Amino acid sequence: MTETQLQSFIVIGGGIVGLATARQLQHNFPAAKVTVLEKEAGLAAHQTRHNSGIIHAGVYYAPGSLKAQFCREGNRDTKQFCRDNDIPFRETGKLLVATDAQDELRMEELLERCRINEIETEVLDQQQLREFEPNVVGVAATWVPSSGIVDFEVISNKLAEQVRAAGGKIETNCRVTAISETTGVEVKTTKGIFSADFVVGCAGLYSDRLVRMLGQEPTFKILPFRGEYFQLPAEKSEIVSHPIYPIPNPELPFLGIHLTPMIDGSLTVGPNATLALAREGYSRWKINVSDLAEMLSYSGLYKLIMKYPLPTLMELKNSLYRPGYLKLVNRYCPAVTLDDLQPYPAGVRAQAVKPDGTTLDDFLFIESKHALIVGNAPSPAATSAMPIARHICEKVKKLINVS
Ligand SMILES: Cc1cc2nc3c(=O)[nH]c(=O)nc-3n(C[C@H](O)[C@H](O)[C@H](O)COP(=O)(O)OP(=O)(O)OC[C@H]3O[C@@H](n4cnc5c(N)ncnc54)[C@H](O)[C@@H]3O)c2cc1C
Repeated sequence: MTETQLQSFIVIGGGIVGLATARQLQHNFPAAKVTVLEKEAGLAAHQTRHNSGIIHAGVYYAPGSLKAQFCREGNRDTKQFCRDNDIPFRETGKLLVATDAQDELRMEELLERCRINEIETEVLDQQQLREFEPNVVGVAATWVPSSGIVDFEVISNKLAEQVRAAGGKIETNCRVTAISETTGVEVKTTKGIFSADFVVGCAGLYSDRLVRMLGQEPTFKILPFRGEYFQLPAEKSEIVSHPIYPIPNPELPFLGIHLTPMIDGSLTVGPNATLALAREGYSRWKINVSDLAEMLSYSGLYKLIMKYPLPTLMELKNSLYRPGYLKLVNRYCPAVTLDDLQPYPAGVRAQAVKPDGTTLDDFLFIESKHALIVGNAPSPAATSAMPIARHICEKVKKLINVS
C-alpha cells in the first residue's frame, strides 16, 4: 500500500497526544477517514487533565533526545496554537531555585544542558532572586523565560473540535479490547468492531497493554506514579508570580514539588511521586486488583525500588505525613504553612519501567506493519504533543510505503 491508497486510520486514546495525532493525520493524509476511540465518556480525562499545566521549555532533557527536540518545538507550537485559537495561556517563564551548594553544582549542569539545547536562561544571585520573587529564598536561581502555563484540556477540546470539523469521528465510551492485523487492522471495542488501514495507539497509562494486544511482548511495563497536589488559599495565590521549581536530582525521573500559578489564577503546589495501587489510582486508597497483581509480579518494580530505596521511602513518608511534604516547599518558599495545603486532585503518571528497574526517559514508539503505538509519553508530552504527532505521521508514511 502507498500513502495515496490509504483510506482510513483509527487512533486509540482521546488524550492530547491522540487528538493531536488525529489532527495531524488528517493534515498529512487528507483523503483518509480518521476515527478516535476513547474509553471514557469525555476526552482528556487522564494525564492530560491532571497535570501541572506547564508549557515546558526543555531545560532537563538529554541533548539529542526526542524529548529535547520535541519539547523545544512543542513550546513554540503550543503557544502558537493558543494564539491562533484564542486559548488563554501566559508566558510566565519559570525559576529553578538552588537552596544549597549541592543544588548550585546541579544547577551548573542544567545550565550546560540548556546551552547545548539552545534554551535561553539567566542566572540570578541571591539578591536578584529576592527582588524577583520576594517570598522565595535560595542561594541562586536560573530564570527560564520561555516556559509558560496553559490548560492542556482546553487545547485538547479545541483539537477535537478541529478533528470533527475536518470530517473525523470521535467515539467515546469505546474501550479497545483487542487488535488484530490482517491486510489492515480490526479493532474490537465495547461498541463493536472498527476496521481501518492503520491504527495509532496513544493510550497513556495503558500503552504496554496495547503493545500486547498487537501480539508483541513489551520491553517495559507502565507503573503508575501518583502525583499529589495541594491548592493554596485564594489570599495566598499571589505569593509567587512565576512557576517556582527546585533543582531536580538528576538521578530521579521526576522534577520535584513545585509552586505553579495555574491559568485560572489559582496557585498549586506539587506533585510528589508515589506508587499508585491502580493505573487510575487518583486516591491513595484506590486499588485495582489486576493492576496491582500485575505490578507486584513485575521484577522491574522491585529493582526500581532497590535502585532508589531512600527516595522511595521519603516520597511515601511525605505523602502520608504532610509536614514532610511542606518541608520540601519551605526549602524555597517559607511563606507556605500547613494550613495552606488545601485539597486538589492528584494526577497519575504513566512511567515506563524496564525489567531491570531502569526508567525509560525518552519518548518511545513501537511499530508493526499496520500499527504504531506510543509506548512512552511522559512529561513533557503535553507540551510536545504536536511535534510527537508530526513524528508519528512521518513514521506512518515510512511504514506504509515499505509494506
Ligand atoms: C502529575 C502530572 C504532571 C504533569 N505535568 C506536565 C506539565 O506540566 N507539562 C507537560 O507538558 N506534561 C506534563 N505531564 C505529562 C502529560 O500530562 C502527559 O505526558 C500527557 O498528557 C500524555 O498524553 P496522552 O494523550 O499520551 O495520555 P492521556 O492523557 O493519559 O490519554 C490517554 C487516553 O487513552 C485512553 N485509553 C487508554 N486505554 C484505552 C483503550 N483500551 N481504549 C480506548 N481508550 C483508551 C484513556 O482513557 C486516555 O483518555 C504531567 C503528567 C502528570 C501525571
